[in-house]
Amino acid sequence: MGEIEEVLKKHHIRPTAIRLLMYKYLRDRNVAATLNDIESGFDKSDRTTLYRTIKTFEKKGLVHQINDGTGIAKYALDDKTTGTTALQDLHLHFHCIKCNETVCLTDHKIPHISLPKGYLSKDMNLLVKGVCDKCNLK
Ligand SMILES: [Zn+2]
Ligand SMILES: [Zn+2]
Repeated sequence: MGEIEEVLKKHHIRPTAIRLLMYKYLRDRNVAATLNDIESGFDKSDRTTLYRTIKTFEKKGLVHQINDGTGIAKYALDDKTTGTTALQDLHLHFHCIKCNETVCLTDHKIPHISLPKGYLSKDMNLLVKGVCDKCNLK
């Protein structure tokens, strides 16, 4: 658990037991998780605690929320090993219409988009819908 503690500390999050477990859970999962997913992975913790934990992570920039059009928020760990700001780290998200999973395509950054004069970009969300590699092979 030592290395996870380091990551949490780097994000100014006090490494409590539930937070360490939450990080591990999200890291070992390679698709974005809904609160329901998280809840079924933690039978000993109540929903409120889990929700608060994920919100703390989000506030500290350790996870980001993905809106994939299903109407349910999904969460994924940020792939930020360096100290880049959120705006530089924007990557594509892919939502599979077959298995309904959403993944972070962290190696695929959102290309620079020019805006009309006077518009200032603060956040960007680019979601690609289609069939993922796993479903495509079936
Ligand atoms: Zn799929
Ligand atoms: Zn992502």
